Amino acid sequence: MSNEQKMTTQERDAQYAKVGKEFAADPNVPEALKLLTDDPRVTVRRGGAPVEGKCVVYWMQRSQRGRDNHALDKAIECGNALGLPVVAYFAGIRNFIHANARHYAFLNQGLPDIEEDCEERGVGFVMRKHPHQKLEPFLEDVGAVMVIGDENPMREPERWRVHMAQTLKVPYWTVDADVIVPSKLLEKAQFSAAVARPRLYRALEQFLVPYDNPKAEVAWKKRRDLHADDVRADMTVDWEDFDRSVPPVEAWKGGHHAGLKRLHHFCDMLLERYDHDRNHPEVDGSSKMSPYLHFGHLGPQTIALAVEAAAKKHPKLKAAKESYFNELIAWRELSVNFVRYQPEYDSPACADNWAKLTIAQHEKDEREVLYTRKQLENGETYDELWNAAQMQMVRYGWMHNYLRMYWAKKILEWTPNVATAMEYAIWLNDRYELDGRDPGGYAGVAWSMLGKFDRTWFDRPIFGKIRYMSGASTGKKFDSKAYIRQVQNLG
Ligand SMILES: Cc1cc2nc3c(=O)[nH]c(=O)nc-3n(C[C@H](O)[C@H](O)[C@H](O)COP(=O)(O)OP(=O)(O)OC[C@H]3O[C@@H](n4cnc5c(N)ncnc54)[C@H](O)[C@@H]3O)c2cc1C
Repeated sequence: MSNEQKMTTQERDAQYAKVGKEFAADPNVPEALKLLTDDPRVTVRRGGAPVEGKCVVYWMQRSQRGRDNHALDKAIECGNALGLPVVAYFAGIRNFIHANARHYAFLNQGLPDIEEDCEERGVGFVMRKHPHQKLEPFLEDVGAVMVIGDENPMREPERWRVHMAQTLKVPYWTVDADVIVPSKLLEKAQFSAAVARPRLYRALEQFLVPYDNPKAEVAWKKRRDLHADDVRADMTVDWEDFDRSVPPVEAWKGGHHAGLKRLHHFCDMLLERYDHDRNHPEVDGSSKMSPYLHFGHLGPQTIALAVEAAAKKHPKLKAAKESYFNELIAWRELSVNFVRYQPEYDSPACADNWAKLTIAQHEKDEREVLYTRKQLENGETYDELWNAAQMQMVRYGWMHNYLRMYWAKKILEWTPNVATAMEYAIWLNDRYELDGRDPGGYAGVAWSMLGKFDRTWFDRPIFGKIRYMSGASTGKKFDSKAYIRQVQNLG
């Protein structure tokens, strides 16, 4: 591991701040380019002046969209400042951690939208899939003068970015495009939503503003012999040792355009009752934006602006907007903060001291029943509601928020210890949820099983002082029979 990879997030932020300062003082860098880094979303990971070449490359990883994308906007601004065209590049990696056919199908559906939206802006879009996906040959092929990337706080993606900053031969900046408030501005791990919320909300005036969506002044023209794979074909089709054990879900369609359609339906039809319906798993009442956010098909800013516009038009939606912002901004960005600053986000080591103590005190408590991972996966427990929630995830690729909490807490009750409980929950969540493998999942599991961001409750067996949810009371808070029937009808 390199020194940068061993650093804490704060140390790395400080290191990149130094790179940024050196870049700003570099007499070889055009002033117009320097001005573009005067933006808290931008991190200069590799400085210096653009090299000789033909275009600016946007290396699209997390923000998989051709509109409302700060990283793409920045690449276009760089291209315009240098009088060069821009091409967005997406690498179809075969073995993205814990991703399977379900996730790839959703991702794949988003690619034609990116191509279409980039074209409208005079930007090229090239996808190369395994075994041709490597970035460096692409940069050579198109003559990249510099690379703009996006950000992802998760461990592996950040490691790649650190590695690329060390090995690329051209300047490399990243742009924090999938949060409303640039995540480094929170500076350290936040203790709770109550602490993070006012800091985030104070910053909204500056950051919750419409996107510019600038156009490229010099249009990119694809060379006829440049290798590019078909964005409308299934990229996984000839991958041999690829995980196809979890099938795609027909009911979902990925992509920026499908995401916008659902967003508008939510704002027009569901937002008004959101505050009430969000706790009713039997009702289609939440936004279902999480898969679109996970794949970057929509940015949170687009969603928040749409909700804000709806609330401006209909003042009676004000309370619903506030409730929605609490989830989309306070809780979601707290999750990003958690993963960014807590390297052990997927293990009991991330618990606060009070939780570590109470977990240790109850580690040996007798469990009434223990289930294997296979039994949990198949929904073979004594609890009908839990089995239905599990099957919603397995068949539909998404589980209602209210039940996710209950689902995770029951796993804690039914496994020998919290480490096993977290391991099983994360494995299932990442395998089946379309929005899995996301900061929201790690924070959600830690909240449910380690009391992360929660307060202490009365001491009780197994859970200690961590909040408990009983099946009897959970099932009474909504029409659980209707919910169970709906899941059974999913086939
Ligand atoms: C055990 C557990 C596992 C979870 N796993 C995931 C996961 O893998 N991926 C994921 O994105 N979310 C996860 N969540 C958070 C939350 O359940 C989902 O984001 C939400 O249910 C998605 O549905 P929605 O888009 O209709 O949400 P809405 O209620 O419409 O909320 C809008 C958006 O706000 C954000 N949001 C809502 N609730 C939360 C929350 N509690 N924490 C963080 N952000 C939130 C999401 O981005 C969501 O899309 C998990 C929560 C728990 C308790």
